[in-house]
Amino acid sequence: MSGTGLIEASYFLAAVLFILGLKRMSSPVTARGGIVWAGAGMVLATLATFFWPGMSNYGLMVVAIALGGAVAWWTGKRVAMTDMPQMIALYNGMGGGAAAAIAAVELFRGGEHPLSVVTLAVAGALIGTVAFSGSLVAFAKLQGLMKRSVRFPMQQVVNLAVLALAVVLGGMALFVHSPPMLIVFFLLALAFGVLMTLPIGGADMPVVISLYNALTGLAVGFEGFVLNNAAMIIAGTVVGASGTLLTQLMAKAMNRPLTNVLFSGFGETAAEAAGEVKGSLKPIDATDAGIMLAYANKVIIVPGYGMAVAQAQHKIWELAQLLEERGVEVKFAIHPVAGRMPGHMNVLLAEAGVPYDKIFDLEEINAEFPTADVALVIGANDVVNPDARNNPDSPIYGMPILDVDKAKNVIVIKRGQGRGFSGIENALFYADNTRMLYGDAQEVATKLIQAVKEL
Ligand code: NDP
Repeated sequence: MSGTGLIEASYFLAAVLFILGLKRMSSPVTARGGIVWAGAGMVLATLATFFWPGMSNYGLMVVAIALGGAVAWWTGKRVAMTDMPQMIALYNGMGGGAAAAIAAVELFRGGEHPLSVVTLAVAGALIGTVAFSGSLVAFAKLQGLMKRSVRFPMQQVVNLAVLALAVVLGGMALFVHSPPMLIVFFLLALAFGVLMTLPIGGADMPVVISLYNALTGLAVGFEGFVLNNAAMIIAGTVVGASGTLLTQLMAKAMNRPLTNVLFSGFGETAAEAAGEVKGSLKPIDATDAGIMLAYANKVIIVPGYGMAVAQAQHKIWELAQLLEERGVEVKFAIHPVAGRMPGHMNVLLAEAGVPYDKIFDLEEINAEFPTADVALVIGANDVVNPDARNNPDSPIYGMPILDVDKAKNVIVIKRGQGRGFSGIENALFYADNTRMLYGDAQEVATKLIQAVKEL
């Protein structure tokens, strides 16, 4: 086999590893292995590139890989689970930026490619640059470095004008080789990424990040055609397709059409739109809650963002095991957008050692709530808000929720009157069958363990 043939074969193998890795990521049982497989594919593709005929600048490549690898390793080890969305935003932005940088090199060089390839280069440049600057703004918002939602008069018109101008200049770049024009084109694309992300509220940010992820994949795929690199084409397409599916899944689980996420500024109006809630909050202490749990036949545990913040998953699993030892049937119910990223709760429960056969998705468990003696809600709020089912005026009306209010008794662990990500009040907390168990989820779980042990 020739040198190029070997490289192509390595790229093919890398692509197979990406696809198999992605497939394995779809189940928590095999997900960790899936990441290793996809990572091995990336290492193989990177190594093969070193042998590409005519390749030079090896020193620079090694320095770039060493620097990037070291920073990624360090940040990856240190990042808190709750900060994962902004980390993904940052990495994703880098991917979009890298695709745009490849396009920039090819476009500024000019003159070598047929029109079809230049078209792909320009399209990849536009999409990659937008994903780059948009992801950086998303990162800044989630990291609290920027105001959550920035609005100004005629915003959509300005945004549209900037995009239209970028597209026109991109179109002209297909026929005219003008570096100053290209610079303006890239600046407009950068500006559009920023402008498009500015008005979007924090609650919608993970959906937008997923959208940018899909765009980055697309840009990488396009630039793969420009460089005639099969590994980039396949990896880009896989990322583009999976990012699109994930965006759809999140938008559906929040019952928010994507256009609504991008253009409506949910966080701004949600709180006022929800209306008043009737009833009163009825507190319970850990001892009484422990008795309710210990003497129940069936308990369904519903974790949410607050469990992640408190890192209470280990204590909660300890509590669940204690209950099981007493003959209580315990199940865990996970909403698709509980926490701050898809799969957030699955990862935490897996980390704590909860067996997968005790963890149920919304569709699997919802019918079981009426048979549960206690639904134990730990730091979840929006995903258990019955207004989504009952109140047509609620901004989250229509969002599928876990029907915890249908359980015979509900115990909600949270620190105080804090609202969920959507910023709206929750009727569940005021329901007759609900008791509020106030405190940090980990501390409360410790007290519950104590209470059950003392019985
Ligand atoms: P929410 O964000 O709705 O509510 C979390 C609750 O946890 C708060 O009400 C807070 O109340 C409580 N809390 C915070 N810290 C602690 C703590 N240390 N101990 C105990 N409780 C605590 O969480 P959900 O998981 O129910 O909902 C997720 C939200 O995120 C949804 O609105 C969803 O649409 C959104 N989202 C999720 C995405 C995903 O992919 N998972 C993506 C995009 C958005 P208090 O302050 O009183 O303690």
